[in-house]
Amino acid sequence: MKLLILGGTLEARRLAEALGDRAVLSLAGSTKAPVLTPHRCGGFGGAEGLAQYMQRENITALIDATHPFAAQISHNAARAAAQTGLSLLRLSRPAWPLDPAWQMVDNLVLAAAALPTRARVLLTVGSRSLQPFIPRADVWFLTRSIEPATRNPPQGLSLLQRPPFSLADEISLMQDHKISHLVSKNSGGRATGAKLEAAKTLGIQIIMVNRPQLPAALEVATVAQALNWVESQKGNP
Ligand code: NAP
Repeated sequence: MKLLILGGTLEARRLAEALGDRAVLSLAGSTKAPVLTPHRCGGFGGAEGLAQYMQRENITALIDATHPFAAQISHNAARAAAQTGLSLLRLSRPAWPLDPAWQMVDNLVLAAAALPTRARVLLTVGSRSLQPFIPRADVWFLTRSIEPATRNPPQGLSLLQRPPFSLADEISLMQDHKISHLVSKNSGGRATGAKLEAAKTLGIQIIMVNRPQLPAALEVATVAQALNWVESQKGNP
């Protein structure tokens, strides 16, 4: 059995570590220094390229453990699995439970539009998602990401930090920079969840971007569940 794990998340890394040489971990290549060295890096060339790769490398099953906002690769995974007839599992951490106090928006453009003039914003959407905020020159942004922005970030201050973040540190950060709004994707997970509690404690408005629609797939929420699924696939070629 040879699994292909599409990664870019903590869960993908943990799964790859647990499966050892039974799995190939693939990353997009956007993180300069990934914590775990992937077995392969860079795009496949769409769904067709992914299907060809899996056939060439004798992959027997596919696990899409990409970030819930990485919609393109999840669509490609579903199409490539259908084309090749291989089993597909999606490993996706649960979204944070909705809070009625949050302002929900469907995409980053709407999140940028929802900010009032002179807002002081903690922006935690990732370095590749900053573009929609750049035109908001009337807003000050504290941008936090793992990787530096490839182009000029929105006006303000940029922090390069890797999660996890503690509640105490999140409260200090928001107080030190007089933050009035937090913009976040509903990524879920504990490593970055403290910012939500910190913002709530300080009465900071949260603008939350809903997850994109993904194609239907068998889905699990934890690495342990994914490992159980792998065991259940053993009888398959
Ligand atoms: P995306 O828009 O869904 O994918 C863009 C293209 O990147 C894909 O079509 C594919 O290229 C390539 N790609 C993506 N993930 C790949 C993987 N694991 N292995 C090989 N190629 C991959 O993805 P994105 O939003 O730019 O995110 C890129 C990566 O960062 C993802 O792997 C994701 O797990 C991780 N990430 C994303 C976010 C986020 O907020 N979007 C946050 C944290 C981590 P081809 O079509 O050429 O195959």
